[in-house]
Amino acid sequence: MVSVKRFVQDEPALVDAVRKFVCGFSHMPDPIVAIASQAKTRTAQVAWALFGTAIYQDRDIPEIMRLLSAFYEAFPDEKLWTLPVPTAGAINAVIERTLEDNSWSMFEHVAGIFWSVGLFVRRHPDLVAWAHERTPEEMWRDLGEIYFMGKAAVRPKACAAIYRIVSAAPLGLGVQCRMPEGYARKALHGLPPLPLTMGARRFLSMFSPAREEGFADLEPAQKQKLMDVYSKAVCPDVPYTVAHSLQFFLEAGTEDFICREKTQLCSKCPLYEHCDYALRNTR
Ligand code: SF4
Repeated sequence: MVSVKRFVQDEPALVDAVRKFVCGFSHMPDPIVAIASQAKTRTAQVAWALFGTAIYQDRDIPEIMRLLSAFYEAFPDEKLWTLPVPTAGAINAVIERTLEDNSWSMFEHVAGIFWSVGLFVRRHPDLVAWAHERTPEEMWRDLGEIYFMGKAAVRPKACAAIYRIVSAAPLGLGVQCRMPEGYARKALHGLPPLPLTMGARRFLSMFSPAREEGFADLEPAQKQKLMDVYSKAVCPDVPYTVAHSLQFFLEAGTEDFICREKTQLCSKCPLYEHCDYALRNTR
């Protein structure tokens, strides 16, 4: 596989189209942040972003947004952490009402996640101060207290949560954390590995140096490194913008894929000439 640097040099037209694609989706609100932002206080916004990130699994974006909205309606603002906590039955009823089935792989875990986010907020009652006082690495460590944020060395949901907390709107809530010394010189400016969403995986398999060799055959660490290095090459100032935009690539929307819904069924997409999916389905 050629290096990202070489790929960028050899494929200027494609990389230019990728930059335009990323830019086109950079103003679209993050699905979890869009719901969490409705909360009345900054702490509640962070808490709801944590809950939304932890439950975001094996459901498409419109479904997860409907589900998070339904939870917010049922248990608004500080009800996420106020005692007494809702019963598992009350929490599961929200899922059954919204998704109209209980076969979701996360069904058995959502109540535990709800309670553990609540416990996390009761331990850190001012989540803005909590973020201000911590570096991204310290936030990452603390977030391991939340059920389903991950305990192992790789905690993709904790990383995604940090980006949702610290990034500027509409990518995140714009809550500042404490940046470590020399962060400007560090990879990804001192922030954690970028979220490797299903959209980003599909994108890298079609528009990155791994398109020939097969992205799927790379080791997990190689996939993550490719995501981080590629995103920094495409958008050096804010690499997370790339991860944010790629989550919408060939991801189910209301009627069609979200990227197609936003580009008049591919006709206005900068990647039109390069995208196999568009070429197969619109000509
Ligand atoms: S499917 Fe269409 S909208 Fe999506 S990236 Fe390809 S050309 Fe663009």
